[in-house]
Amino acid sequence: MSVLVFGGAGYIGSHTVYELLDNGYDVVVADNLSTGHIEAVPERAKFYNGDIRDKKFVDGIFKKEKIDCVIHFAAYSLVGESMSSPLKYYNNNLYGTMNLLENMVENGVKNIVFSSTAATYGEPERIPIYEEDRTCPTNTYGETKLSMEKMMKWTEQAHGIKYVALRYFNACGAHVSGVIGEDHSPETHLIPIILQVPNGKRPYVSIFGDDYDTPDGTCIRDYIHVTDLARAHILAMEYMAKGGQSDVFNLGNGVGFSVKEIVEASERATGFKIPVKIEKRRAGDPAKLVASSQKAKNVLKWKPEFTNIEEIIKTAWLWHSTHPNGYK
Ligand code: UDP
Repeated sequence: MSVLVFGGAGYIGSHTVYELLDNGYDVVVADNLSTGHIEAVPERAKFYNGDIRDKKFVDGIFKKEKIDCVIHFAAYSLVGESMSSPLKYYNNNLYGTMNLLENMVENGVKNIVFSSTAATYGEPERIPIYEEDRTCPTNTYGETKLSMEKMMKWTEQAHGIKYVALRYFNACGAHVSGVIGEDHSPETHLIPIILQVPNGKRPYVSIFGDDYDTPDGTCIRDYIHVTDLARAHILAMEYMAKGGQSDVFNLGNGVGFSVKEIVEASERATGFKIPVKIEKRRAGDPAKLVASSQKAKNVLKWKPEFTNIEEIIKTAWLWHSTHPNGYK
């Protein structure tokens, strides 16, 4: 079975490519390398360099390769940037997905798994968050992801393309081998920023707000290992191949950690003292986001294997300590 991984040179995409290859799938990667890294794509995968919005490029892949299923990661994902450049997000995330789906329709490819996000919920109604809860994004990034989900729904009705949307909570960690990991520029995510301290790249970590309505005043998030996310894509693909219906699933560990707790766990995982500085809140940060992933467990038979936060951070530290400048 041949899988097209669009955005397979990115953080979650490349980890999914590794899992697919290890599970015996033929993998075709497409990526424009705008945020992804060619070094993250293993030689065992076939690589096409191009843009998801380029009709000829996408059609060419479907004409050359026999693709059974698409896994779609090719989207922008920075909340702050999505607020200052919303149309950039509509263009890539929505127009790109539209072009991909049009080409799937024309080439008779019937199944797609794609990255959605906890940002589709916005300020949650309750914790943990269930898939049927209100979706009211508080930023353009989450809005475009929710619109992608809806685009899939209507496309299925008209053209029979089945989809699984995976709403990730906080992706983190790195491949246990240490050969691939997280490399964003600029880096905005908490754990890689924390690990820049023991790497000698920053003197302290800024904590964005300690006056939230949480036990220690800092924001609580549900951190899920990137390899557990990667495995969920394969299960979702196999679920559709066996006749499963289109659906949406949360992916998280179901446990919340505050920013301060993540700093402390990082100190234990690395053996370094990590100084912090309390700063003002970052716009658009909900106080607490924790997933119920019961549905993914029941329907997809998914079970996170990385459940200890210190062990998760250790996998990230193996990558960052051996690649202090990322793939460069
Ligand atoms: N955060 C922080 N300092 C940083 C980066 C992040 O205090 O330098 C906080 C952020 O406000 C949020 C949590 O860490 O409460 C996780 O942020 P991240 O950007 O990693 O993921 P998000 O939850 O925004 O998807």
